[in-house]
Amino acid sequence: MTAPLRLRLDLAALADNWRSLARMSGRASCGAAIKANGYGLGAETVARRLADVGCRDFFVATWAEAERLAPLGLPNVSVLHGIRDEDMTLARAGVARPVLNTPAQMARWRECGGGACDVMVDTGINRLGIAPDSVVGLADGLRIETLMSHLACADEDHPLNAEQCAAFTALRGGTGAVRMSLANSAGIALGSAYHFDLTRPGLALYGGEPRHEFAGVIRQVVFPEAQILQRRTVRAGDTVGYNATWSARRDTEVAILNLGYADGYRRAFSNCGSAGSGKLPVIGRVSMDLLAIDVSMASDLVEGDWVTMDYALPAAAEASGVSQYELLTGLGRRFQRP
Ligand SMILES: *Cc1c(COP(=O)(O)O)cnc(C)c1O
Repeated sequence: MTAPLRLRLDLAALADNWRSLARMSGRASCGAAIKANGYGLGAETVARRLADVGCRDFFVATWAEAERLAPLGLPNVSVLHGIRDEDMTLARAGVARPVLNTPAQMARWRECGGGACDVMVDTGINRLGIAPDSVVGLADGLRIETLMSHLACADEDHPLNAEQCAAFTALRGGTGAVRMSLANSAGIALGSAYHFDLTRPGLALYGGEPRHEFAGVIRQVVFPEAQILQRRTVRAGDTVGYNATWSARRDTEVAILNLGYADGYRRAFSNCGSAGSGKLPVIGRVSMDLLAIDVSMASDLVEGDWVTMDYALPAAAEASGVSQYELLTGLGRRFQRP
């Protein structure tokens, strides 16, 4: 069955983005965050493509995400949320490597005689991770592959960036970890001091630009496409959509698309989104499953035709006030994915 909405993915652009980020990572290896179903694109699809171009280190949030990827036989998969008691069966089966985040998780892994693991140190985000001053003692008896930390403000020029980098650098050589890893996408642009041995971009792989340094480097990957369900002429003075927020100044050609906020095309695009490279503005409120565009500039479009929404992430985030991360990860299950 063919769904009336689909995600077109430019996988060549995805591969190019990874190569660009690998180049910007200097001597460090470049991994890939593919949590949340590959930021909404489809984790298997992006992982397969990235592995083909040379990516060796993949990061997911949960063991359920890791389990779904197991058939791909990826070289290194790390589970960022670590090991709860409930995760031990999958963790011990070697489906992926746990990223240990708490003293209890480190003890649990040591007691069960687990193999290689990663460890997250909290250098200032105060989210997940071990305190830097206790990690060396706790690391005793563990085989740590990657010692990690995560930046809180890498998408801004903020004093916390340098503080976190210094705190992390001070741990070099202390834990016996084979590698160290600090930078997400934005952190890669902060310079070589932030690269260590491995970088972990997510957003920028998928076309996001968290900092101006990525402009002109990162290519758009995700293109939401929706089918026209009806084309109609709206008479001058009539309105379109819920709450009548748009009214026709003149007779206007309108197409109704099979796409709405339940698909992740946010209500914030009401009267400000567009399709067809800016030629076809969204008019009126975005509904749950439908929206309207002005097709006066496209006399050829008819019922059943497909329209590509404008979804270049920096511009779409600017227009809607919704973060680039949410614009990607919110893309719903009704989209047919490749
Ligand atoms: C999500 C995540 C990343 C990737 O971050 P981006 O900002 O999307 O590049 C890297 N490291 C950790 C620990 C993460 O949770």
